[in-house]
Amino acid sequence: METDTSDGVAARRQEHVARWGELLGDRLERTQWSRATLDTHRTGALRALLAEARRGSPWHRERLAGIDVHSIIADDLGALPTMTKDDLMSHFDDIATDRRVTLEATEAHLRDLTTDRYFEGDLHVVASGGSSGQRGVSVYGWDAWVDVHLGLARHLIADLMARPDAGGTVMGLVTASNSTHMTTAVATTFANPMVEIRSFPVTLPVRTIVAGLNAAQPTSLTTYASMLGVLATEAAAGRLRIAPRRVYATSEPLLPEVREAAEAAFGEPVANVWGTSEGGVMAVGCRQATGMHVNEDLVIVEPVDEANRPVAVGERAAKVLVTNLFNPLQPLIRYELTDEAVVLDAPCACGSAHRRFADVQGRLDDVFTYGGTAIHPHVFRTVLGRHRAIAEYQVRQTPAGACILAAAAGAGDRVEVDLVTKELFEGLRQAGIPDPDVAVEVVASLERHASTGKLRRFVPLSSSRR
Ligand SMILES: [Zn+2]
Repeated sequence: METDTSDGVAARRQEHVARWGELLGDRLERTQWSRATLDTHRTGALRALLAEARRGSPWHRERLAGIDVHSIIADDLGALPTMTKDDLMSHFDDIATDRRVTLEATEAHLRDLTTDRYFEGDLHVVASGGSSGQRGVSVYGWDAWVDVHLGLARHLIADLMARPDAGGTVMGLVTASNSTHMTTAVATTFANPMVEIRSFPVTLPVRTIVAGLNAAQPTSLTTYASMLGVLATEAAAGRLRIAPRRVYATSEPLLPEVREAAEAAFGEPVANVWGTSEGGVMAVGCRQATGMHVNEDLVIVEPVDEANRPVAVGERAAKVLVTNLFNPLQPLIRYELTDEAVVLDAPCACGSAHRRFADVQGRLDDVFTYGGTAIHPHVFRTVLGRHRAIAEYQVRQTPAGACILAAAAGAGDRVEVDLVTKELFEGLRQAGIPDPDVAVEVVASLERHASTGKLRRFVPLSSSRR
């Protein structure tokens, strides 16, 4: 029942946008919920998810045997087994609760996907970026796809409703060119009169993107964290002339120096967005404080150490376990993501009861190890972020150090290669590499991932590892 004709897709999208409109009020209200209301909802949603997983997924049924799903509460998932991307991909068909969802069929769908299209008439399939190495496939049900969009859009809509002088909503998107990626696909499905979308593939030449944005004059700007740095440079140079009221950085860790440059260039606080192909939009930055509020009505996020033990408030977690409460079609229960996270404990000035996480700084996969010495990406970032002439960079681990590809910010900017090399050498030496090998190469541009347009900033030597 594939709706292949463009008329069919358009009609289907109209129904989907109508459903979006039906759910919007409730999803906006949830952002205002008290902690008690939120907890009741989360526990109820968790139990419903577990019941559905047990009903429809042979894989989960076996793993959840012996667990009393009716006594579980959202803040205590310790009794449930965890799962990895490897589990998801190796038991794909048995994990889904809908027998139409098979790896073979979804891969075939992705293979020919160039624009947003339904799978089996009502589902959506996205591939995960692969920035962590291993590719994943996520499948969303009808209502779940709405929540992927509203996970971010409701915050934007609430913000614009609170500041009505901002005028109509034109979302400027500078993201993936291909609809196998979530951000692009979901924006295409739900483009509607309330939220006009102007999308520019991140793989276009920068001057083309800048010209497009200048013509579109978006009221909000959403782009990859790495691209935000480039656009901030363009704005500072006077070439990009837009006045977005809301700036979102997605998909990649937002480096402090990029945030600073973008806030200076656009005069508005930058909100980080923590989204994943598996959990949708998991957290969105707050206007009144740093960090991001977790969409706690949609996902449970457990910060843990490398051995999956809970990590205390304020401490840096090595990874997180995500339970997706809104997509029972492909139950992800305590699903491992290698994103670092820190839970903040102070209540937020904005009044939201949704817990706040510090901005995601990096991924465990970004850490380079040399013998027994681990080098955090921060060692490279602190140096590279200081040099304004470097618009973008990629750090490739070498046996005894690193090779850095640096793209200059503008024609007039000269990267001080000798100084950067010396500073990196010093940084690595202080971090525990006695005589590091550092090579800095200035390049015209960096190669982005062919389909997602993401930039892999840190490439470990054994980049085949997860
Ligand atoms: Zn807040």
